[in-house]
Amino acid sequence: MPQIIDGKEISTAIKEELKIEVGKLKEENIYICLAVIQVGNDPASSVYVGNKKKACAYIGIDSLSFELPEETTQEELLKLIRDLNEKKEVNGILVQLPLPKHIDEDEVIRAIDPKKDVDGFHPQSVGALCIGQHGFVSCTPAGIIQLLKRSGIEIAGKECVVIGRSNIVGKPMALLLLRENGTVTVAHSRTKDLKEVSKRADILVVAVGRPKMITKEYLKEGAVVIDVGIHRNENNKLCGDVDYDDVAPVCSAITPVPGGVGPMTIAMLMHNCVEAGKAQ
Ligand code: NDP
Repeated sequence: MPQIIDGKEISTAIKEELKIEVGKLKEENIYICLAVIQVGNDPASSVYVGNKKKACAYIGIDSLSFELPEETTQEELLKLIRDLNEKKEVNGILVQLPLPKHIDEDEVIRAIDPKKDVDGFHPQSVGALCIGQHGFVSCTPAGIIQLLKRSGIEIAGKECVVIGRSNIVGKPMALLLLRENGTVTVAHSRTKDLKEVSKRADILVVAVGRPKMITKEYLKEGAVVIDVGIHRNENNKLCGDVDYDDVAPVCSAITPVPGGVGPMTIAMLMHNCVEAGKAQ
């Protein structure tokens, strides 16, 4: 049976480490504060925002909550972000996505001070990652690197294939694996013969957004499989982009869904908040 990469356990360990660090910072009178902005009341977004605030409370980070109505204008949202950029006591600003259709997400992300961009979505943060400079890294891919490292999986010199090229998962994931000296291939919907490409992988990261698409036909025996996908099936059960039962006998290590990549995203957000607080 493969090694099960336990995201719950690893994210808990990270949160415990951060809790201790935040406690020590408080002794030096350094308090960390995250501002969380939600526009509208999409139920999934409300759950994510609630979980982020809970994690802040657990670690000892203050959170300021801004719940704005659906009809909030672009200018009103930008003004709030500019005000929060100026507030010394706010270290991180998080705008929960997706935003209502009448709001230009890119402009909103660009308005956040890169020093407070704890989601790592600002073009300056992405650019810094690309050229190997210091900056915030998108939380899900950063969490995957922690999963690999803390499970004792070597990245340097490995063939890494990332399926998916979104700005929040696929692209930063590829850049991070490259930073860790992996040999990286990025596959997407226009890739010819995806099975042949993904079979090269020693480490396969799947972020396609299609339930159970990846079966053992896509895998080299002994590969490490990281499943980023989250879907709810007709029985309300969670599953990933990987067909876990089919793939597990063939791979050497795998992340389950739930309990793999998912819990890492919030842990890395908390990590970014602590880094923001220390840097400011
Ligand atoms: P997107 O829909 O933005 O991107 C999907 C990517 O997969 C695209 O690059 C697309 O290619 C590619 N793709 C789609 N179909 C195929 C195919 N048949 N063959 C090859 N490539 C394909 O998704 P995200 O990156 O935002 O998310 C991916 C998954 O991860 C989702 O299930 C999402 O719910 C989950 N997720 C989980 C998180 C967590 O915390 N665990 C956080 C974020 C996302 P192209 O660019 O050519 O269209």
